[in-house]
Amino acid sequence: MRTPYMKETEEALLHTYNRFPVEFDRGEGVYLYDSEGRKYLDFAAGIAVCGLGYGHPELTKALKEQAKKLLHTSNLFYNESCGKAAAALKKACGMDRVFFTNSGTEANEGMLKAARKYAWKRGTGRYEFIAMEGSFHGRSMGALSVTEHEAYRTPFEPLIPGVKFAKWNDLESVRALVTEKTCGILLEPIQGEGGINMASPEFLEGVRRICDEEGILLLFDEIQCGMGRTGEMFAWQYYGVKPDIMSMAKAIGSGVPVGAFAMTEAVAADSLEPGDHGTTYGGNPFACTAVAKTLEIFEKEHVTEHVRDIGEYLAEQLDRLVQEEESVLERKGTGLIQGIRLNRPAGEVTAKAMEEGLVIITARSDVIRLVPPMIIEKEHVDEMIEKLKKSL
Ligand SMILES: *Cc1c(COP(=O)(O)O)cnc(C)c1O
Repeated sequence: MRTPYMKETEEALLHTYNRFPVEFDRGEGVYLYDSEGRKYLDFAAGIAVCGLGYGHPELTKALKEQAKKLLHTSNLFYNESCGKAAAALKKACGMDRVFFTNSGTEANEGMLKAARKYAWKRGTGRYEFIAMEGSFHGRSMGALSVTEHEAYRTPFEPLIPGVKFAKWNDLESVRALVTEKTCGILLEPIQGEGGINMASPEFLEGVRRICDEEGILLLFDEIQCGMGRTGEMFAWQYYGVKPDIMSMAKAIGSGVPVGAFAMTEAVAADSLEPGDHGTTYGGNPFACTAVAKTLEIFEKEHVTEHVRDIGEYLAEQLDRLVQEEESVLERKGTGLIQGIRLNRPAGEVTAKAMEEGLVIITARSDVIRLVPPMIIEKEHVDEMIEKLKKSL
């Protein structure tokens, strides 16, 4: 498919993405339609973002009404939807204080700054971060500094100093990097971009213990694995290991760009104060309407319970695929953040799937990542499996 707008895009936009040759025009439920009217089953959700699918009537109505009323005022003033969203998010993520951002990367920047300020205010001299191999935290200089992926980092060095990388799910390798300068340990409970790698419960519990023993803050990046995907609102609740600060984004706004970082009162009391941090757009009335409404719908429609049920069904079907298909080596993940590891480049399969009318994406080179809208039903899983088999 070639449209005039594809040509325009390629000529005008900085070339930082290799795009699929598809131009999406509209969405409905768990389906996307291109500008020629072709229908696609979507198991990517705009990279784990559109958790409620497309055109959810109640969300659409709330956004329309808010757009008419007020889009933006800045953080110099109060507004109702900001208060509503903050209170609801605080309750859902089990933290005490929330700061809204415009993206996941920006949430991670804020999280790192909050941890640094906490150490600074207490005069501990701590500034180092321990992050994980296989991590992805974003592309800005701070977030990139804690992202391990070599190719993402090298052209932009030197990055911020004081970051070390531990081996994933290897507690001893974390312990070996701890010094009296360690300020925070940062990880994704389930690594997304890194290939849908689940932390083992023992690893998370062990890292929490190290943090408690050494006076280090535990930082979770729940931007991809949070917001219902594990079958709990956030992955820390799934594991039962609570961080001191956490970042969120992607599905919290159902497609409206918004992120957040949140912390316990104990951290907040000794961290960012007026003048320390800010954002012009972050948490504006429109974005906060999306967050508040999304959380309301999650509760009303029992989305997390649904994810648990449908996630189990998806796991069963994928396990069968592992047995039937020689090229599928392993199933990964849980709930509606799952994947399959292949014995060949996953990009070949995702390209083929587009031709079959199935949108799926990769994570690293050999994993197909399945992060669909969380409203999918069994019939959609069956349709996906059928199309995936053809694509394989
Ligand atoms: C997507 C993602 C980010 C970056 O979020 P943006 O909204 O793209 O800035 C950071 N961490 C994780 C785990 C992510 O999946």
